Amino acid sequence: MSQYDVLVIGAGPGGYVAAIRCAQLGLRTVCVDNMVTASGKPTLGGTCLNVGCIPSKALLDSSHYYEHLTRHVAEHGIEVAGASIDVATMMKRKDKVVQALTLGVASLLRKNRIDVVAGHARFVTSAEVEVVSAGGASQRVSAGKIIIATGSVPARITPAPVDERRIVDSTGALSFDAVPARLGVIGAGVIGLELGSVWRRLGAQVTVLEALDTFLAPVDRTIADEAFKLLTKQGLDIRLGAKVTATRQGAEGIAVSFEQQGSSQELEFDRLVVAVGRKPNTQGLNLEAAGVRLDPRGFIVVDEDCRTAQPHIYAIGDVVRGPMLAHKASEEGVAVAERIAGQKPQVDFNHVPWVIYTWPEIAWVGKNEAELRAEGRDIRVGQFPFMANGRAKGMGETSGMVKMIADAATDRLLGVHILGANASELIAEATLAMAFDASSEDLALTVHAHPTLAEAMHEAALAVSQRAIHF
Ligand code: FAD
Ligand code: NAD
Repeated sequence: MSQYDVLVIGAGPGGYVAAIRCAQLGLRTVCVDNMVTASGKPTLGGTCLNVGCIPSKALLDSSHYYEHLTRHVAEHGIEVAGASIDVATMMKRKDKVVQALTLGVASLLRKNRIDVVAGHARFVTSAEVEVVSAGGASQRVSAGKIIIATGSVPARITPAPVDERRIVDSTGALSFDAVPARLGVIGAGVIGLELGSVWRRLGAQVTVLEALDTFLAPVDRTIADEAFKLLTKQGLDIRLGAKVTATRQGAEGIAVSFEQQGSSQELEFDRLVVAVGRKPNTQGLNLEAAGVRLDPRGFIVVDEDCRTAQPHIYAIGDVVRGPMLAHKASEEGVAVAERIAGQKPQVDFNHVPWVIYTWPEIAWVGKNEAELRAEGRDIRVGQFPFMANGRAKGMGETSGMVKMIADAATDRLLGVHILGANASELIAEATLAMAFDASSEDLALTVHAHPTLAEAMHEAALAVSQRAIHF
C-alpha cells in the first residue's frame, strides 16, 4: 500500500488544481480519477475538460463562426458562397482541443511529481481508499489528508429516460454525428441555452421546454428579459411553464408530451437533450466508511473552509454547496491545499463570476436588482446600451447592455450584469473591482481605452450618478 501526505479523489478543475498546489507546497500527493474517453482510455481534467466547459465552448465557437459567415458578414460587403458544415471535422477539432488540454493536465501533474492512479476510489477507512481500475485491478492508497473532488453528474427526470441515442444528456449533445432537423431540449438553463444555441446555429429547429414560468430565474430581470427577446429572435423556440409528462417513440422521432398553461401538448423531435441540472457525484465512494455526511440534496456537508465532519477530509467543487462552476472548484482546491500546508487562505465566495456563453453572452457578478431590493437595500442603478458604444457599432455587435448597481449611501458596487458581445471577458473588470470593494466612482475615474467594448463598463459606472456621456 502507498502512503501519501495528500490523496485527491477526482482530477477535475477542483482536484487537479488542488493536487498541483499541494505538490507546490511540498506535500507528497496522489490523484485518483476514474474518467475514461469514449475509447476507454483514462483521461484527466474531469467533466470540465472532457465533457463540459471546454468541448461546449469549442462547439460554441465553431457554430458562432458558421453563423457569422452565413448571416452577418454580408453587411460588411463580404460575399461567402456555398458555406457548409462538416460535423465530423467540427467534432474532430473539438476532440483535439480536449485532448491537448487533458494531456496538458497529465503533463502538469507529472511535472509536479504527483502520482496519478486511474480507477474508481472507494473508502475502506477514513484514511484509506481502494482503487479499482477499469480492467479490475485493485490497489490501496492511504494518506494523512484526503480531498474529495468527485464533481457532479447530470440530473435525470423520469418522463425522459436518457438512452444516449435519441434522448441524451449534455455529453451526448456534444457528440451528435449530424445536425438534427428537430431538436428538443428540456431545461432552459445554462446547458440548454448553450447547447441549444450550438445546434440552432448549425441549422436545427430547436425547441426548449422549461418547467418554470420565469426565464433564467437567477439572472437580473433586465438582462434575462432582453436575452429572452434576442434568443427567441434568433430562432430558439423557448416554451416557459412547460412540464414534460412523458416521452415515447413516435412515428418519426421522439414524441414529447408536456403540460403548458393547463393544456396538454405533444411535439416530435429527432433528438432530445435533457438538461435539467446536475447533482453531486458521490456514487460508490462508500462515504459511510469515512464518516463523511451528506445533506438532504446529496452534497457533502462542509464548513466554509471545505472541511467535512472528519477534520482530515476536505471536499471541494461541484460535490459541495455553492455554484457548480469550474473556477469556484479550482479556487476551493487551492485554498484547501494551502490550509493543509498550514496557511490561512480565503475564497471570496461573494464575487464568483457567472457566464452563459450564448450570443450575445450573459455575465454577472454580485447580486441582481431584485435580490438587493428584496433585502431592502437602497441602491442606485446605472445602465449603458452597447448600441451607444463605438466599438460595438463597428463590430456590428450592438445588442445588450451593461447594468451596474451600487449602494446608494456608500457607492460600493453590489452587482454588475452584462448582456453583450464578449461579456465573458468584460466581467473580469467588474469582478476585480468588486473584489477590491470598489465604488462606481472608482470605475468612473478609471481611464478606459477607446474604442473598446469596455467603455460600456465605464459609461455604466458614470450612469450610476446620471452622468453617462454617450447616452
Ligand atoms: P469534475 O470536473 O466533475 O471532476 C470530478 C472528477 O472526479 C471526474 O473526472 C470524475 O470522473 C472523477 N470521479 C468521480 N468519482 C470518483 C471516484 N469515486 N473515484 C475516482 N474518480 C472519481 N463551468 C464553468 O465554470 N464554465 C463553463 O463554461 C462550464 N461549462 C459546462 C458545460 C457543460 C456541458 C457541463 C456539463 C458543465 C459545465 N461547467 C462549466 C461546469 C463545470 O464542468 C463543473 O463545475 C466543474 O467541472 C466542477 O469541477 P470538479 O473538479 O468539482 O468536478
Ligand atoms: P441549470 O440549473 O442551469 O438549468 C436547469 C433548468 O432546467 C432550470 O431552468 C430548471 O428550471 C429546468 N428544469 C428542471 N427540471 C425540469 C423539468 N422537469 N422540465 C423542464 N425544465 C426543468 O442546469 P444545467 O443547464 O443542467 O447546468 C447544470 C450546471 O452546470 C449549471 O447550473 C452550472 O452550474 C453548470 N454549467 C455552467 C456553465 C457555464 O458556466 N457557462 C455551462 C454549463 C453548465
